[in-house]
Amino acid sequence: MDDKARAELMAAIAGWQNQDARHHLHPFTDPALMDQVPPFIIDSAAGMYVGGQGVRLLDAMGGLGCVNIGYGRPDMADIAADTIRTLSYYHCFSAASNPYAAELAARIAALAPGALNHVFFANSGSEANETLLKMIRLYWSRKGQPERRAIISRDYSYHGSTMATTVLNGQQAMIAPFGLSPADMDVHHVMAPFWYRHGGDLNAEQFADQAIAAVAGKIDALGPETVAAVFAEPVQATAGVIIPPDAYLPRLAELCRMHGILLVADEVVCGFGRTGAWFAQETFGFEADMMTLAKGLSSAYAPISAAVVSDAVLDVIKGTEREVFQHGFTTSAHPVMAALALKNIDILAQEDLVKRTRDSIGPYFASKLKELENRPLVGEVRATGLMAGVEIAKNKTTREQYLLDMAVCDKVSQACLMRGVIVRPVGNAIVICPPLIIQRGEVDYIVRAMGEALEEVSGQLD
Ligand code: PMP
Repeated sequence: MDDKARAELMAAIAGWQNQDARHHLHPFTDPALMDQVPPFIIDSAAGMYVGGQGVRLLDAMGGLGCVNIGYGRPDMADIAADTIRTLSYYHCFSAASNPYAAELAARIAALAPGALNHVFFANSGSEANETLLKMIRLYWSRKGQPERRAIISRDYSYHGSTMATTVLNGQQAMIAPFGLSPADMDVHHVMAPFWYRHGGDLNAEQFADQAIAAVAGKIDALGPETVAAVFAEPVQATAGVIIPPDAYLPRLAELCRMHGILLVADEVVCGFGRTGAWFAQETFGFEADMMTLAKGLSSAYAPISAAVVSDAVLDVIKGTEREVFQHGFTTSAHPVMAALALKNIDILAQEDLVKRTRDSIGPYFASKLKELENRPLVGEVRATGLMAGVEIAKNKTTREQYLLDMAVCDKVSQACLMRGVIVRPVGNAIVICPPLIIQRGEVDYIVRAMGEALEEVSGQLD
């Protein structure tokens, strides 16, 4: 780029930053800060990399853990253009449908575990979970048990940003500003299977016992006849990639079955290969009655999500009397979004991206990242498939944490950025969820950048 071109680019960036600061409200961002810290304008992306403001960054977060097939694929662009030319939109209300939605629903049903065969489309993970909250109400009223309204969720969980899904979240900071109370909405939180934080001296099996006992205790306290459903992310990504002990999820499913409670697997992050299987239910050996999908469903080429229910659940919801499901979105099952999701699934399958995550690149990623446990500040590295959380500790032995307002994780992630790598600080952990196309050399680069960043920040703290 010559001087003139660079000057023009800098002027354009300044213009976008100005427009952005004045008019664009960002998700999960302090609006007051937008005036003071100009946004980083990302204007291009390809493969594992995003570009902006004259630099290219290795995106070890795959956007927000969603760009499973990598960025900027020409075949995805072609599908979008072709579908827009053929059928830019028609709704799916009443008896209308389109070829892409029909095929996508069938493809999801074929890939999904067990009897999860019926798909409702929405636009975001939040909307998919919201859809299930309403379906759960219908399910129990049509089953003649309308008193089953309580929902059990877990600490540290993240299920969405709509009014109802907000109270499912296990992080008070997301709930309190809106004057919401989970208990008022019959949502009840239980301990998460977060061994590093809550496991103390227990081994994995003993800790699974404790975490399951917490759910069982809550069910008993509420009265099993009042409990409608349990929501669970198989791996709690947004909280720093909390991976449950092996026994936990199968036992949770068993507990729910015993009491006739519906189990919802929120596979918004885990679905479509992230854990090395199409769905984490396969990785962790359990089956839910309902699941939600988003992110990897289209690799974020399109805002599309799905709420999937089992044959048995659908049978009840159909009921005996004719009644409309009073729920839906204008762009539910949008043909262009569905076509992009179909092509994304084709790519995941044709390039064997799910299997390589399980068998080769995933184990390599985990073993290289584990080496970071020898670096300063690292309490624990958790990894499954191509998702990892690097837990930051002030004291490795006692697991003491730094105060959050010391922003240690932010500093580490900033130091990674200076080395050209994007990772994501959340609470006391750094999350890494790269596109599934990642190569060994890129894993090495990320681990080296993280190692250097940890040394640098630890040096500043001393
Ligand atoms: N569930 C989980 C497990 C998530 O991680 C997220 C988003 N990070 C959501 C639901 C909400 O999805 P969306 O942001 O698309 O509404």
